[in-house]
Amino acid sequence: MKYYSLHKQSPIASFKEATILGQAPDKGLYFPETIPQIDKDLINNIEHISNEEIAFRVIKPYVGNEIKEEELMRIVSETVNFPIPLVPVTDNISSLELFHGPTLAFKDVGARFMSRCLGQFVREGQATQSGQTGKVTVLVATSGDTGGAVANGFYDVEGVDVVILYPSGKVSSVQEKQLTTLGKNIHALEVNGTFDDCQQMVKQAFTDAELNKQLFLTSANSINVARWLPQQFYYFFAYKQWICTPSGVGGQPPVICVPSGNFGNICAGILAHMSGLPVQHFIAACNANDVVPNYMQSQQYQPKAAVATISNAMDVGNPSNFVRILELFHQQVPQLKEKFSSISITDEATKQTMKRVFDATGYTLDPHGAVGYLALEQYLQQHQASKGMFLETAHPVKFYDVVEPVLHQTIPLPESVKAIIDLPKQSTCIDPSFEQLKDFLLTNR
Ligand SMILES: *Cc1c(COP(=O)(O)O)cnc(C)c1O
Repeated sequence: MKYYSLHKQSPIASFKEATILGQAPDKGLYFPETIPQIDKDLINNIEHISNEEIAFRVIKPYVGNEIKEEELMRIVSETVNFPIPLVPVTDNISSLELFHGPTLAFKDVGARFMSRCLGQFVREGQATQSGQTGKVTVLVATSGDTGGAVANGFYDVEGVDVVILYPSGKVSSVQEKQLTTLGKNIHALEVNGTFDDCQQMVKQAFTDAELNKQLFLTSANSINVARWLPQQFYYFFAYKQWICTPSGVGGQPPVICVPSGNFGNICAGILAHMSGLPVQHFIAACNANDVVPNYMQSQQYQPKAAVATISNAMDVGNPSNFVRILELFHQQVPQLKEKFSSISITDEATKQTMKRVFDATGYTLDPHGAVGYLALEQYLQQHQASKGMFLETAHPVKFYDVVEPVLHQTIPLPESVKAIIDLPKQSTCIDPSFEQLKDFLLTNR
């Protein structure tokens, strides 16, 4: 598979080049030249095929021969080695629980796959150029969950340094511990600003000539193809379980609702669908950061400064991956509208939903899942013959500061959180200034 830049001003790249670079030199996002079609047999017999094999068959066309088959099989097995259950919540709504990985959020899947691919390429010794240290520096901005997943995925990977920028005071305490307590090759920068500031600083770093002469920088944000593409896996795992539930028996494909921030996750789902996975409709559920819901109304794409909400991993004012969704639909808005809707949900409604669903069913939603649940419920009220699932993107305990007061319940801490909650935070505070980031990178190289 070859990848082109959506800005069309850069040479086409291999999977390896696209993974190492993250973003194309013209600052466009990489996009696969063709959308591979999944073997019909994979869909028709999916309930008899293991998750490892599904994942391997889905990703293989995107990787080609750039990673040996045994190696790729090992990487996908390690990527999906935790449960991803589809849990019915009501008669017409199920929850795809993506939070059973090491950092309790869906980003574990993409981060585990990407870190293993990059580690492999660095070991092969062809990643960096002369004049650089031989190490790769992964630079990543996080609104909450990316940091922990990337830190965990890359922890102790030889030849890779990780620098994580996060907005001070705007991530939950569990999230902060997950990205500031590892040490070794993981460095956390606490930025006195917003997620958009962090993302802006990271973007600027990639274009700074001096920095790029001395360091080999790459991104681990959801724009990286090695993070984006493996997110397709669990849409297939969902379907495998869906067809065995009362909702899916009879062959009606699900409506899938995805709590969205940077739109990488939902974009992977749409890609899976275009490769042959049956899905009736996609809903991007947003919080007050409603650039895409507004676009769907007006066809005007107007990025805004991010506003802080209780579903903080979705506080994105200019979602990077939306351009990939437009590309998947060849920029044709009528086709897009047929398959894709987007709904904005307030914090107040999110809290009410958490409480209402808990009281009625005993199911505990995290704030992101609650945004997804309510958007799906609203859509199904308008489409009574349909049934669907939402992606429960994080474990509620990651947001216990929000969830516990709403439910008047304590959420028991999983072992992985108990192990880090009392460890001291190790971070370096900086202002939202590119110069301060640059200083840090050059002195710590
Ligand atoms: C990152 C994140 C999202 C948003 O995912 P995108 O791929 O950026 O749209 C939603 N929920 C949680 C819990 C997240 O960590």
